[in-house]
Amino acid sequence: MPRKIRLLVVEDEPAIRSGLADVLLFHGYEVDTATEGPEGLAKALSGKFDLVLLDIMLPKMDGLEICDRIRRSDPDQPIILLTARNTDDDVVRGLALGADDYVAKPFSVAQLVLRVQAVLRRSQIGVDLATTIELGADIRIDTRNLAGTRGQEVLAFTRKEIQVLQYLHAHHARAVPREELLAKVWGYGKDLELETRTVDIHVAKLRRKIEPDPSNPKYLVTIRGAGYRLLIT
Ligand code: CA
Repeated sequence: MPRKIRLLVVEDEPAIRSGLADVLLFHGYEVDTATEGPEGLAKALSGKFDLVLLDIMLPKMDGLEICDRIRRSDPDQPIILLTARNTDDDVVRGLALGADDYVAKPFSVAQLVLRVQAVLRRSQIGVDLATTIELGADIRIDTRNLAGTRGQEVLAFTRKEIQVLQYLHAHHARAVPREELLAKVWGYGKDLELETRTVDIHVAKLRRKIEPDPSNPKYLVTIRGAGYRLLIT
């Protein structure tokens, strides 16, 4: 029998923490919890969790710093941020630091479980993915190392940004709708009501890295009414 999937919940509010743990246990996951930042970081860095649910506002060390430190030691650790409402800056920063997704409080249990399942499925992209992506004459991206160069400039990417680029690269002959990116890169099904902002935030971050003029993209372009397309020649 395969081992149970292990989740870590880092959350200082007791009611949310125990509520989450109960729900996730009910869905068959093994759950551990942490209540403060340093404890959460230490447990997350143990490497034994398949997914970390990480509150942003935490005592002693906030979730964004924990996210950053997890990502530096493990580029592949799945992380979902739990955010309070009206904290857009935190969401943008968290995704830039490499979190896979975020869920805004108050969230419905059903939605949260779907997100957890989606992130756990996320690697099922199902196409041959490029290890090197070249754009124009001067951009070269090494997807395995989440790194690249633009002329003399060194570029660093999050894993999710690279997955978006790889998917667009694999399908560069056409525009890819946001919903398809959510399904294929994030693993979300059509049953999930969610904002497409997660996709847009990642695209905006990518443009700032690869576009000479991010407000007037020439590689990662928007095709009106159709989605995003990567122009590789
Ligand atoms: Ca909190």
